[in-house]
Amino acid sequence: MKLKDKVAIVTGAGRGIGAAIAQAYAREGAAVVVNYSASAEAAAGVVQTIESVGGRAVAHQADVGNLASHEGLVQCALTHFGRVDILVNNAAIDRRVPILDAAPEQWDAVFNVNLRGAYFLAQRAASEMAKTGGGAVLNIASVHDEQAHRNNSIYTIAKGGMKLMTRCMALEWAPLGIRVNSLSPGAILTDINRAVLADDAYKQRVIEMIPLRRIGSVDDLTAAAVLLVSAEGSYITGSTFYIDGGLLL
Ligand code: NAP
Repeated sequence: MKLKDKVAIVTGAGRGIGAAIAQAYAREGAAVVVNYSASAEAAAGVVQTIESVGGRAVAHQADVGNLASHEGLVQCALTHFGRVDILVNNAAIDRRVPILDAAPEQWDAVFNVNLRGAYFLAQRAASEMAKTGGGAVLNIASVHDEQAHRNNSIYTIAKGGMKLMTRCMALEWAPLGIRVNSLSPGAILTDINRAVLADDAYKQRVIEMIPLRRIGSVDDLTAAAVLLVSAEGSYITGSTFYIDGGLLL
């Protein structure tokens, strides 16, 4: 087991990519705090799935965009499992809107969760990791941390910021033994894109841009998500791993 006795907080872990990473970490022996903001039932389901195979997990409601909720999330890990070794900043939202129509409220909503929330939660989690000699932060960014996305600029700009956030944190926290990396998925079928990918013509256009000629699944991401926070990844920090079927090519 690659994460035996480690304690992980995974944000937005009730569904989608976060749920898959939470379950993968639990399979590797980590105790997992399954954070959710609205999907209470789904988060309880993830915990149940983990516990049903002998793993350890607890669900915790917290809106990552609300900085006041971060303390409770970290305390949940400390109370139940005694420490924090791993944080996965996975929670995100988007607002698909052309730049000419974008409103400040849309900017604030996306940035509060995707970047400001991730930044300050990492800061709080890292202060705990530093006390125990180190840890790992994994930021779930996107191919859109590099590539412009039409009518999705706010999300795209926040993801670009996350890529540099990874590098800044990796630089400052290396002396604390804390590694920080980004995992940047391409097109992975989840709720975030289920509606747009239901349009067959659009889906076909996306597939044509992917050299491996398929939309990814959440399971395509879990091996790298484990590697980047495990001892096997101990010389990897400040990196962005693109898992995109070659989309960026
Ligand atoms: P998703 O299915 O829409 O899930 C989003 C997750 O974020 C949900 O678990 C949601 O939890 C959580 N969340 C949203 N707002 C939150 C908040 N304020 N506080 C806490 N949790 C919050 O999306 P996904 O595809 O799994 O995306 C996961 C990550 O991968 C995101 O960072 C996304 O940008 C990135 N990504 C996805 C793709 C893709 O193709 N799917 C591609 C590139 C990057 P609740 O339901 O409880 O609100």
